[in-house]
Amino acid sequence: MKHHDRNAQNKGGFSCVHCKAHIPYQSFGTKQRNHCPVCLWSRHVDDLVGDRRSVCNQPMEPVSIAARTDGEWAIVHRCTGCRQLRMNRIAGDDDELALLAMALRPLTDPAFPLDMLPMYRVPKPTEH
Ligand SMILES: [Zn+2]
Ligand SMILES: [Zn+2]
Repeated sequence: MKHHDRNAQNKGGFSCVHCKAHIPYQSFGTKQRNHCPVCLWSRHVDDLVGDRRSVCNQPMEPVSIAARTDGEWAIVHRCTGCRQLRMNRIAGDDDELALLAMALRPLTDPAFPLDMLPMYRVPKPTEH
């Protein structure tokens, strides 16, 4: 592991906006990587997919996993700058535990109280 490799950016890679891992653009299972395989964060660099012309350039937080209509799985990113939502293909070397943790997050940290669901509602004792 070299610590003074200042040419890393020029060799076709980038540093993760979130965990600072160095990510090569060329990765297993994807033509052009746009998110970190370790923590799944991305950066708002595209107006249209792959054009790298966005002026926003803010970190994009992975918020959810979605199945696309073609059956592929995608990560939903939300830009921390402009709040835009964006779907990105999962890459072959994305960290499976990170993906799983994100998929399970709504279950472990629900946005609403679970006792609002009928199946969890405790029936009140009948008052006679
Ligand atoms: Zn990262
Ligand atoms: Zn943005």
